[in-house]
Amino acid sequence: MRSWKRTATPSLFLLFLLSVSVIAQGDFRLDASSISGWQWPASSNGITYIPVCWENPGGSQQETGWVRSKILSTWGSVANVNFYGWGTCQADSRGIRILIADTRSNSGIGRFMDGVRNGMELNFTFRNFSPSCQAAERRPSCITSVALHEFGHALGLMHEQDRADSTCKTESRKTGGLLLTEYDPNSVMNYCNPRWNNDGVLSALDVVGIQRLYGKRAAVPVPAAVSGSVTIKDTLNVAAGQRWEYIVMTLGTNDSRRDFRVDTSKPTASATYSFTTSGRYCFKLWSNTLYADGKYYDGYGEGCWTLEAGRSYAVEIRFRKGTRDRYFDIVLE
Ligand SMILES: [Zn+2]
Repeated sequence: MRSWKRTATPSLFLLFLLSVSVIAQGDFRLDASSISGWQWPASSNGITYIPVCWENPGGSQQETGWVRSKILSTWGSVANVNFYGWGTCQADSRGIRILIADTRSNSGIGRFMDGVRNGMELNFTFRNFSPSCQAAERRPSCITSVALHEFGHALGLMHEQDRADSTCKTESRKTGGLLLTEYDPNSVMNYCNPRWNNDGVLSALDVVGIQRLYGKRAAVPVPAAVSGSVTIKDTLNVAAGQRWEYIVMTLGTNDSRRDFRVDTSKPTASATYSFTTSGRYCFKLWSNTLYADGKYYDGYGEGCWTLEAGRSYAVEIRFRKGTRDRYFDIVLE
């Protein structure tokens, strides 16, 4: 476990106990009730997985592609962070949820924006803000360099010019914070940088700072061809009177199907699906359960997951309520 308390040497920094009134004036937002801990948690393999989705991507396929490429080739290429998903947000989507809006681009901070609707807003059109970015030759770089800055906030970084030791005279609102490096006039998070968002390039100290928070990117990224898997487990609820249960489940675009059963002699069973590319996979699941009183009950559930190539997922079939409900949840663990 990395200890940020030891990184006493300064810079890109923190986001810890700041005055919310000060924060509210910037281009980022922070929920007043959620100031305690900011870094997205790492999974057991040391990588921090952060889902990303778009609230309203319709008609913006090109722009969302620019943003994705920019983030994966910058923050995502130097820090041990995997941004994944990038599809349309569902009602219960976790992670960074981006609204495309003609407003001042802004973002929440770190893990506090996990699953928050419109947690980040990005401007693709510039009719109201930064109109000089409307020009066709400027629009791509404007969109991507602003996204680079806002994803800095999303990872947990605050404005560099607000550090107590900032040499910035014009934009600085001095606040406290966790300093990760020495003061960095070239940071993408520094309003006093004469190059706007450092021309869309991470500074050397931006890289050092984010690696102190999340670790260095593993040298070899998981190739897309490496297969991932989803293992589905079902357990008979003998105590509730279940004697036998049959499961049929389909997953993915080709509706790959698995059938399996559990009974009192073998109360737990599982089936495994493999997949090769990251993306959104949908399942349908039917159950037929025999109870001790001789009656059969049917169940049905469906849903979708965002799966990342190279990862293995374990899922348990769980009933939403009671044991004879027709519908049940599938919990992805
Ligand atoms: Zn900002």
